[in-house]
Amino acid sequence: IERTFSIIKPDATARNLTGAINTLIENAGLRIVAQKRVRWTKTQAREFYAEHKARPFFAELVETMTSGPIVVQVLEGEDAIASYRALMGATDPAEAKRGTLRKRFAESKGQNSVHGSDSAASAKREIALNFTTKEIV
Ligand code: ATP
Ligand code: MG
Repeated sequence: IERTFSIIKPDATARNLTGAINTLIENAGLRIVAQKRVRWTKTQAREFYAEHKARPFFAELVETMTSGPIVVQVLEGEDAIASYRALMGATDPAEAKRGTLRKRFAESKGQNSVHGSDSAASAKREIALNFTTKEIV
């Protein structure tokens, strides 16, 4: 059993897709063991995405992620990290496979509806940045 960190991004909360995304997460065998709706400050977004700070899209990424409410989650299941990455699909919805969250819901590379940790180290860091241990049940 493994845990991963997930975000339902502002483009998806704006289109009222939290329930639809959560249904697909649960149908994929992942359990939502922590969840809250929040709005990040720019400081929080910059810290979360620090690894991308030299990338040309960094400013746009911080703007996008602070443009509205997000739903942050901890997902638990067998191979949760890889399993959720597979459910999300490619970063660019034009390249995402049929049945993936990004194929169904994403509008563009920037407005791509969901985030999921890409490794065990990232999952640990991202969960710790967003939840206390008591909030994960
Ligand atoms: P995430 O980390 O959000 O799960 P990812 O791992 O598929 O996505 P990364 O390469 O880590 O993609 O990029 C982080 C996020 O930055 C992407 O989800 C996307 O929203 C944004 N992003 C990446 N590339 C671009 C781009 N060329 N233009 C605009 N935004 C981008
Ligand atoms: Mg990533």
